[in-house]
Amino acid sequence: MALSDLNPVERNEEGIAAVLGILKQRLGERFQTGQAIRSQHAHTTTYIPTQAPDGVAFPETTAEVQEIVRACAAHRVPVIAFGVGSSLEGHTNAPGGGISVDTSRMNRILSVNPQDLDCTVEPGVTREDLNRHLRDTGLFFPIDPGANASLGGMAATRASGTNAVRYGTMRENVLSLTAVMADGETVTTGKRAKKSSAGYDLTRLLVGSEGTLGIITALTLKLQGIPQAISGGVCPFPSVEAACNAVIATIQMGIPVARIELVNALQMRAMKTYSKLDYPESPCLFVEFHGSDAGVAEQAETFGMIAQDNGGGPFLWTSVAEERTKLWKARHDAYWASLTLRPGAKGLSTDVCVPISRFAECVMETEADIAEMGLIAPIVGHAGDGNFHVLVLMDVNDPKEIALSEKFVARLNMRAIAMEGTCTGEHGIGQGKIGFLRSELGHSVDIMRTIKQALDPQNIMNPGKILPDAG
Ligand SMILES: Cc1cc2nc3c(=O)[nH]c(=O)nc-3n(C[C@H](O)[C@H](O)[C@H](O)COP(=O)(O)OP(=O)(O)OC[C@H]3O[C@@H](n4cnc5c(N)ncnc54)[C@H](O)[C@@H]3O)c2cc1C
Repeated sequence: MALSDLNPVERNEEGIAAVLGILKQRLGERFQTGQAIRSQHAHTTTYIPTQAPDGVAFPETTAEVQEIVRACAAHRVPVIAFGVGSSLEGHTNAPGGGISVDTSRMNRILSVNPQDLDCTVEPGVTREDLNRHLRDTGLFFPIDPGANASLGGMAATRASGTNAVRYGTMRENVLSLTAVMADGETVTTGKRAKKSSAGYDLTRLLVGSEGTLGIITALTLKLQGIPQAISGGVCPFPSVEAACNAVIATIQMGIPVARIELVNALQMRAMKTYSKLDYPESPCLFVEFHGSDAGVAEQAETFGMIAQDNGGGPFLWTSVAEERTKLWKARHDAYWASLTLRPGAKGLSTDVCVPISRFAECVMETEADIAEMGLIAPIVGHAGDGNFHVLVLMDVNDPKEIALSEKFVARLNMRAIAMEGTCTGEHGIGQGKIGFLRSELGHSVDIMRTIKQALDPQNIMNPGKILPDAG
């Protein structure tokens, strides 16, 4: 993607120089301006060119985040929140320079309330940290993007993962947030009650706001009990259409599947080698059930019958934890496995989501498009939600390949929108998807801009993201 295609944000050299001085004095070693660390904080896992911030701050408390934001507000300098940098659409780039606020030192688990099944954490806690901490409580936090992302970043991108079909996304699992807003004031958006109809839902406004409205400094999250029994396995299919139809039937029959993931034949080829899996090189569904011993066995058998009706199988499933862990590790490593299909290439990862009844049609049309355009682009999907990802492997030094890949992504996004779906089920808009937002949401984009202008009139919070033109 050419830089000129991205939302431009004007640099405020004088303001930036002033803030660099203030933060160096205030934070000392916890404020870094070296080239490598600045690039690392812009360079997310994307083909979009790096636009580095001018400095990286490592606050340890909400009060320090407030000080940083106040300094930036006083001098009209961009502030870009940073979790672990695993976002895929140029989210942490700094097109107008400014200060990256790295939350990795805000990594305390503030409370766990087993009786209420909730916890409160700082934003730099990662999903794996949290689940390690919870291990002895019988509870877990189910949202699992493929990367070990920070919970602040996950809330900010409204992330989900393989478990969303059963447990929902960050939207359903955040009870309340504390955030530092553009004027440096903090807001706490709710209490710990499981539901509330008290006023505008600011929690859900901040979830998915990608750091453009405020910096999250604490999150209260719902937790789940670890199921008594878990079973799961892999089921091969003769075609991607058959696999998708089995997913649709499973969801429409109301089988309470916990995970149901599509892996197409090319992706399976990569995963077989990378993760040493012993399955056929054909489209497969990775499936998991949570419940009682009898319940998971019954669900697995019912799913096996649906698979058979669609020409798939055998569905080999197991309750043995080590075997299941191997399968899901392979699924989470799918991105890295794909990169081995074309050594030296960079991956353009894009995601769309459609109503479940259109899932097979959307995946098949996309596979046909990939073949017609001569791309190497494996597909994986959180199929139960109608959500899938395509990783286009391309030579980023070849402008023709970049143009072709972008054309493919545009067609994919417009296809999903035409099927009453969305241009992003979980990765977010960042810079890469700005061009599709109006096609999907029309006048809603103007309402979003009004909200942005009201809450961040100077446009300092992660400018150049989500909204077209106006930053
Ligand atoms: C291999 C791989 C697999 C992936 N699989 C999935 C998947 O299955 N599902 C999925 O949803 N995503 C997936 N992703 C994308 C990514 O992991 C998610 O978007 C994740 O939520 C980003 O979290 P992060 O900590 O890396 O955030 P970052 O990349 O650091 O930041 C992302 C955005 O959030 C903002 N932000 C970060 N922290 C805060 C904060 N404290 N307050 C306010 N704003 C903040 C940033 O400004 C930025 O706009 C995958 C990525 C990779 C590399």
